[in-house]
Amino acid sequence: IDILAIETSCDETAAAVVRNGRTVLSNVIYSQIDIHALYGGVVPEIASRKHMEKINQIIRKALSDAGTSLEDIDAIAVTYGPGLVGALLVGVAEAKAIAFATGKPLVGVHHIEGHIAANYIENPELEPPFICLVVSGGHTHLVVVRDYDRFEVIGRTRDDAAGEAFDKVARTIGLGYPGGPKIEKLAREGNGSAIPFPRASIDGAPYDFSFSGLKSSVLNYVNSCNMKGIEFNRADVAASFQNAVIEPLLSRAISAAKEYGMDSLALAGGVSANNAIREAFAKECEENGIRFYAPSLIMSTDNAAMIGTAAYYEYIKGRRDGNDLNAVPGLKLESR
Ligand code: ATP
Ligand code: MG
Ligand code: FE
Repeated sequence: IDILAIETSCDETAAAVVRNGRTVLSNVIYSQIDIHALYGGVVPEIASRKHMEKINQIIRKALSDAGTSLEDIDAIAVTYGPGLVGALLVGVAEAKAIAFATGKPLVGVHHIEGHIAANYIENPELEPPFICLVVSGGHTHLVVVRDYDRFEVIGRTRDDAAGEAFDKVARTIGLGYPGGPKIEKLAREGNGSAIPFPRASIDGAPYDFSFSGLKSSVLNYVNSCNMKGIEFNRADVAASFQNAVIEPLLSRAISAAKEYGMDSLALAGGVSANNAIREAFAKECEENGIRFYAPSLIMSTDNAAMIGTAAYYEYIKGRRDGNDLNAVPGLKLESR
């Protein structure tokens, strides 16, 4: 089964061809990051326009890189939520048009289900059930992956997502957008125990997260240094902040794996590209006898191959969408 997958939920225009769920025949990503960086974050209207400009050529390239053509594709998959509504609509309209014109089946995919599925691509032995910590630009979810298409969200952020915290703190200390990779790089030169930033926990919700207090506390630290005329060490701030993000993620994920009796733990989403996080998880998992998985860097951030993988497992279970498929910006992981 060869699936043509399309992803336009945020600021990457992406298309891929995936065979039988786990073999990536092509994976084309046009990132708009340089454009949005000028504005310090993603501008939704610009994202939609760029998707419109690029989508056709990205799809053509995905087909030609895979050495295939639309006639030989078995199904069309597309991210229909969550994400920016105008951005999602470009991919959804395109996928519906292709499905209609070719008479091929259409499969709508949840973006976060795609991030989770990215782990299957490079780890042939990984199968549900397992625990997955989704840490992306808009989501921080601790998920029990019961089956390829069945998810139980046992913890979530109450405010900012982990990636969002990276992006906002990066702005506070004068690094550009996107903040994640820049903080990671600077943190390597800093002392992660230099500043005792808070680690929030939520009463009665052991698996929930909160990062807005941490974000404010970094801002307060920087402001008070500036006010006192003290030069603060940016690398120490980056490293101490990064540790304050990693610790709660790690401790909650490990306790969840134990409580739910899971012997495998996976990371998913853009923040899992962070090496400090990967190393901390790898070490702790090893000490606890848990198998650890994380997608490669390119599969961690937005791409269409992960959408093709998720779509395959939906497809073989019989999921088909019609011409009434619509973009759902607030689509829930458990509501499908
Ligand atoms: P969502 O998937 O929740 O809809 P999104 O698609 O915008 O949001 P992703 O593309 O999965 O998010 O990830 C982007 C986020 O990952 C950004 O917040 C970015 O700062 C963060 N990120 C990327 N690389 C790193 C890194 N090396 N360290 C920390 N964070 C990172
Ligand atoms: Mg992005
Ligand atoms: Fe994403």
